Amino acid sequence: MISIDQARSLVLQNTSRAAAVRQAVARVADLVLAEDVTSDVDSPPFDKALVDGYAVVAADVQQPARVLEVVERVHAGQTPRRLVTPGRAAQIMTGAPIPQGADAVVMVEQTVERSAADRRLVQVDAGPLSPGHNVLLRGQATRRGDIVLAKGRRLLASDVGVLCEAGRSSVRVVRPPRVAVASTGDELVAADLIPHDGQIRNSNGPMLCALARSARADASDLGIARDDLPTLLKTVARGLQFDVLLLSGGVSAGTRDLVPRVLHELAVTQIFHKVCLKPGKPLWFGTYGRGRQPTLVFGLPGNPVGSLVCFELFVRPALRKMQGQTRVVPALGQARLGGPYHQQSDRPTYAPAVAKVGQDDQVVVDPVRWQGSADLFAVGRANCLAFFPSGDEHYAAGRPVGILWLDEPDRWRL
Ligand code: AMP
Ligand code: MG
Repeated sequence: MISIDQARSLVLQNTSRAAAVRQAVARVADLVLAEDVTSDVDSPPFDKALVDGYAVVAADVQQPARVLEVVERVHAGQTPRRLVTPGRAAQIMTGAPIPQGADAVVMVEQTVERSAADRRLVQVDAGPLSPGHNVLLRGQATRRGDIVLAKGRRLLASDVGVLCEAGRSSVRVVRPPRVAVASTGDELVAADLIPHDGQIRNSNGPMLCALARSARADASDLGIARDDLPTLLKTVARGLQFDVLLLSGGVSAGTRDLVPRVLHELAVTQIFHKVCLKPGKPLWFGTYGRGRQPTLVFGLPGNPVGSLVCFELFVRPALRKMQGQTRVVPALGQARLGGPYHQQSDRPTYAPAVAKVGQDDQVVVDPVRWQGSADLFAVGRANCLAFFPSGDEHYAAGRPVGILWLDEPDRWRL
């Protein structure tokens, strides 16, 4: 049996970045940019006031209590018409263009309006100030033609604003992978039904769709397929039209475990079957088609905790790579055991556990009571998976262990 690392390397070797598509700017947040974006304007596009106040000649207001004649008022969106010379000022609002002749803006808080018979006057107490004070010069932030967002960037919500300022209404992004999920098993019924003799609810299908969506993929649930060849052939053939096909169940050693046979009949090339891992040992992986990116086919274990662990260790990294991310392998967080733990398995184990982040940023983890790969409710009491190498070993409280978070660590601060 191959190791977790070997299996993941094989998955990633067969995975390449998805093609780029053009997308309206309103829908690109969270997607990966597939082109360099340049600005078609200088930013700011004109010399502009950074505060509300008075545009002046800096050299003219060095002395306290300087009184100037106000020649006009300029709001944002207006074009100044009057020249500012020594002895004169223009009242100006944040974002308005600086009038000709002026080279600084005194904020309104440093001025007092003075009324005179037929003239508007303002007294300025600015203290020493240099040209450029409270002014952002044209092109000072960004020049036309500069790259404002680089290819490969995962677009943040704020980048939608950057794209708008750069004059883009659409942009090329890496297409989110299309993932099909099919759950195999004669015993499966949908979640809204009461299971009868020997039946169980299909937890994997909806869970795998949700996991795929959490990895920003576009997931489709193909539903439940019974364990007979015609049904499986039909469902798998449909799933092979997607970028990724996630099958659950039917890959172990039972007589009704027909998935490997069906995949073989549909010309899916097996890359590996079985990984030295607990839970998740039955994992089957192969590829279909010869294009630039063949369909990735994962035969995930029927037992839901095995499915979950295989998704996190193998499927999520592949989805990340398809979306152009560079760090795709999940990094284990450092934690210390809160209490003693006994690990006994011939395979490396990911056990459902609860981790808490202390005020000193130290993470303390405790595995939850868990009956193995079929016990998904244990995951419902957990927020991470704690990693234990294979062996028969007693771990004392305080021993360091690696954890794979299933939630955001910040939500588990004490
Ligand atoms: P299999 O690999 O098909 O033999 O399934 C292994 C175990 O997982 C069996 O107990 C199945 O009943 C269970 N199982 C299979 N598929 C699902 C599913 N979609 N949801 C929950 N449990 C499942
Ligand atoms: Mg089955």
